[in-house]
Amino acid sequence: MTVSSNMQLRCELCQIEINENADRGDEVLFSRGATGSRSKLWARVCQYLKTDEQKASCINQDVSKRGTEMPGDRYEEIALVEVEGTQAES
Ligand SMILES: [Zn+2]
Repeated sequence: MTVSSNMQLRCELCQIEINENADRGDEVLFSRGATGSRSKLWARVCQYLKTDEQKASCINQDVSKRGTEMPGDRYEEIALVEVEGTQAES
């Protein structure tokens, strides 16, 4: 049997794919790094879409699907951890 319970969506604008997984929640496949949640995708990419045309093409504009933004969803918070951990910059 093929995997039929999973639906894979692709957001052409954000260049990501989302596995819709009924059991474990949706899983966003970023082009780099680990998979994440829809709220992470929103915090990093989708919230920056400007025009209505862009928003209409984005598959992650539904707040009821993506949920609220969680700590660590943004790049900034991850960068902060890296700075504290490594001190490799400059
Ligand atoms: Zn998107």
